[in-house]
Amino acid sequence: MGSAAQRLYSQLYSARDQLWMDLGKCVTDPPKNPNLFYPPPGMNAREAVKFCQECPVRSLCLEYSIIARELYGVWGGVVEQDRRRMIRARELRRLA
Ligand code: SF4
Repeated sequence: MGSAAQRLYSQLYSARDQLWMDLGKCVTDPPKNPNLFYPPPGMNAREAVKFCQECPVRSLCLEYSIIARELYGVWGGVVEQDRRRMIRARELRRLA
């Protein structure tokens, strides 16, 4: 993590802040496929994206994954390539 925002988030990120994770659908109603959120290269992540659409903490999950720079898997219903685009877009806005 390099930016000031990332460092600040790391400082603020405590066990209490992780409470939202316990409310995620992947915790309260886990999928049968334990690898659902980390499909092997070349496999479609559509099932995981759909699963996340019904999660009550989806937006928190997505925001966490962007700020924490989670590089792999589906977080907040968004695949890694799309999260990278979101990160780049935020950085461009920050620099503008
Ligand atoms: S959005 Fe998806 S990955 Fe994130 S907590 Fe909810 S079910 Fe889990």
